[in-house]
Amino acid sequence: MASYVKKDNTFEQAEPLSRECPHCGAHAQLIPTATPSFEAIRSAQPRQVGIAFRCAACNEPRFGRAAVRSIDTVRVELSSNIIEVERSRQRFPYNYLPPAVERIFREALQCYSADCYNAFASMCRRTVHAAVTDLGSNARLQLFELYKEVVEIGSIDEPTAQMLETVLFGTDGPVPEIGPDHAAVLIEMIKDMAYQCYVRTAKLRAAMKMRRYFAEEHSGKITSLDRHRAETA
Ligand SMILES: [Zn+2]
Repeated sequence: MASYVKKDNTFEQAEPLSRECPHCGAHAQLIPTATPSFEAIRSAQPRQVGIAFRCAACNEPRFGRAAVRSIDTVRVELSSNIIEVERSRQRFPYNYLPPAVERIFREALQCYSADCYNAFASMCRRTVHAAVTDLGSNARLQLFELYKEVVEIGSIDEPTAQMLETVLFGTDGPVPEIGPDHAAVLIEMIKDMAYQCYVRTAKLRAAMKMRRYFAEEHSGKITSLDRHRAETA
């Protein structure tokens, strides 16, 4: 379904456009806020035009471009295929990572979002390096166990698993070249490994600490402030 810029500069979409938002993550409608003028397209005759939208869920701006299909005296027809200029970002609770790991890992996910799959693969190997430097030499084995777990849970085929093992843990050669297929598996793998290694550990420790605190308070080992006040009043 095409969209149109009419002679009076009104913008008409055959049907509303909805996409996943890189800002809020919602699959929300894109509401046009700035569309090209009819006269400007008529005089410049561009192959593509830019349109600004706002996300119906979070109001953040979104930008797209569309091919110009035809220009006549009353309207301009635009392709329905709106290409978004801003890519969806990978989400991750980065605040659980130590700064040295976060810097590398964040850049790894940005490479993936930009479709730079080989840069992404290299940054994944550096993420493993950064985590091992942070956690100590035992972490290498721990990360390898997490990798094996993902291979098993995800039923990843043998050649892919071997290639990704070389990407992440290879020491005697360059990172092998990967394409979108391998990158799609690797993104889920590295996110899960980082999550299990840092986020799960931190959340579990915090939850246990909290439960033990309340258990001790309940058994009278810790005097809560209110009880202390009641006793001394
Ligand atoms: Zn949004």
